[in-house]
Amino acid sequence: MYTLTNLQVRVWSGKKNLSTTVRTVVQPVEDPALSEIPIDSTDKETEETLQISDVHSVQKIEKYFKCKHCNKKIVQGTCTDVIQCERCGFIMRATTCEKSVTAKIGVLLDEQQVSLKIDESLLTKMFGDVISIDDKTLAQKLLFLEDFTVTYNTDTLLVSDINM
Ligand SMILES: [Zn+2]
Repeated sequence: MYTLTNLQVRVWSGKKNLSTTVRTVVQPVEDPALSEIPIDSTDKETEETLQISDVHSVQKIEKYFKCKHCNKKIVQGTCTDVIQCERCGFIMRATTCEKSVTAKIGVLLDEQQVSLKIDESLLTKMFGDVISIDDKTLAQKLLFLEDFTVTYNTDTLLVSDINM
């Protein structure tokens, strides 16, 4: 922050403008109270966007049921008729539960393989109805991604956006 003194007021097309002159003095303001104002650190500082040329591998595609009560992922085998939520204890028929899917892809960043997680909402945005696509086809779609940008959280490695 600076103070400017000896400014000139000019009227230009009916508007007043402040302008500097040769006599204008620019002085930095040294007020400790001002320097204590925190500079707005963006809450997205853990997000990074990278250009990726291709997908190294699809590490995992996971389909699971979501609890009808608390929406939590139910990790039990998906072939049973009756499932129980580990969080809230509710027991329900598998056929009446909503399914979800997540994928984990490996990409190379500076020669190092990084596993990025993609959740259902992004998969749906990219490929449409991903619940009814079988795992192999979904893996194929992911493997054939080329020259895209990926925005992900560097802490959780969860991808928030992919632009093809
Ligand atoms: Zn539950």
